Amino acid sequence: MGYIDEVLELVAKQNPDQKEFQQAVKEVLQSLRPVIEENEESYRREALLEKMVTPERIIMFRVPWLDDNGNMQINTGYRVQFNGAIGPYKGGLRFHPSVNLSIMKFLSFEQCFKNSLTGLPMGGAKGGSDFDPKGKSDREILRFCQSFMTELVKYIGPDTDVPAGDIGVGAREIGYMYGQYRRIRGAYEGGALTGKGLTYGGSLGRTQATGYGLLYLTKELLKANGQDIAGKTVAVSGAGNVAIYAIEKATTMGAKVVTCSDSTGWIYDPEGIDVELLKDVKEVRRVRLDAYAAARPSAQYKEGRGVWSVKCDVALPCSTQNELLLDDAKMLVANGCIAVCEGANMPTTLDATHYLQENGVLFCPGKAANAGGVACSGLEMSQNSQRLNWSVEEVDEKLQTIMVNIFKNLDQAAKDYGMAGNYVAGANIAGFKKLAEAMIAQASF
Ligand code: NDP
Repeated sequence: MGYIDEVLELVAKQNPDQKEFQQAVKEVLQSLRPVIEENEESYRREALLEKMVTPERIIMFRVPWLDDNGNMQINTGYRVQFNGAIGPYKGGLRFHPSVNLSIMKFLSFEQCFKNSLTGLPMGGAKGGSDFDPKGKSDREILRFCQSFMTELVKYIGPDTDVPAGDIGVGAREIGYMYGQYRRIRGAYEGGALTGKGLTYGGSLGRTQATGYGLLYLTKELLKANGQDIAGKTVAVSGAGNVAIYAIEKATTMGAKVVTCSDSTGWIYDPEGIDVELLKDVKEVRRVRLDAYAAARPSAQYKEGRGVWSVKCDVALPCSTQNELLLDDAKMLVANGCIAVCEGANMPTTLDATHYLQENGVLFCPGKAANAGGVACSGLEMSQNSQRLNWSVEEVDEKLQTIMVNIFKNLDQAAKDYGMAGNYVAGANIAGFKKLAEAMIAQASF
């Protein structure tokens, strides 16, 4: 049995119930075959792959908080510090009832390669809680964030581990957590959290960065394949931070976005999604998507899932993991879709990914396509260290350069290993090589 298969077997044996983690490891390791085979002896000696699939540290903790009725509630908090070989741990916090150790490990594993791809000095981590922010009052969210940070503060800091937002964690939650961090530490360490508000060390452009970055990369990928984003019909899933700013940038680039979705239903708007209305529904009023359709005559709201059934040229899954399944991939291909770029982390299942690739659809994985968010967080850390604020133009220009470079690197890596056009392999190989070199150099950890 080859080295990769041995390690995959080990991961399955050691983590039998962690299906998302196993899925992420499988996707990465399988595409690394040519690189591993050419260095198998030295990698085995270093136990490089075993190290790479084992988190440096997992922190799990109890989060007690008082609800509005004065009753104590208990949730579980997590921080998985997966790999710190190329910089301080970096990765978002997710508050969602589906959060468990498997999801935390898959996200932090992916984050290691993503952060490596950005070219910035950041290690990989992820954290969060099974706390469900839906239906909670603002004061309940505050008390939860205070309690969560009271424990997490022991393990993070500008030079050790720098969390940010993810599903269920936006500017409000980051503000509450930073307040508690500062209170306990007794020091102004802005670089300990990113995604901060603009009045206390946040970076201009961070809110938009993941969605905008997704479009900068998609544009580059289409250009490299003789296509233009302008004039394309785009299907987007999700209606959160990533989706909203992906829709905004796609629209300004001249594409027409005709769908978005949340966890209860989806919108089909053949005239193109009205981004300002969507922001009002989701960012200001924080209500369900049916409110969008109620305010827009051209839009239809449908219960359940269905965005991938619509005819489109480009699909951008931007909600959550495993939301684009094999049957969805078949519909996209049948409807003439030419490109799928992942705004979310691992939204496409492995069989759906293979189907898309086998049918000639350009496919860019999330670890490259959504790296704009963490890249901009890296820029926020640089500004905090310098105690300077860069203009929005400066940040956006750097973001564009990073996304174009990510695409060039993964395109080149795929070509170097005889897999031109396989951007999954390209992203994994480009992210892996830098990480592997740094880990081998620091053999003692
Ligand atoms: P948000 O919480 O802002 O939005 C998430 C969106 O996805 C919401 O519309 C939500 O619907 C929907 N959603 C979440 N979970 C489910 C589910 N289980 N089933 C169906 N719909 C669901 O999160 P973000 O936009 O920040 O994150 C979206 C994705 O992008 C995630 O995979 C995240 O890891 C990834 N990502 C985010 C980055 C960032 O900078 N924010 C950076 C890189 C990746 P509802 O409103 O009903 O809850």
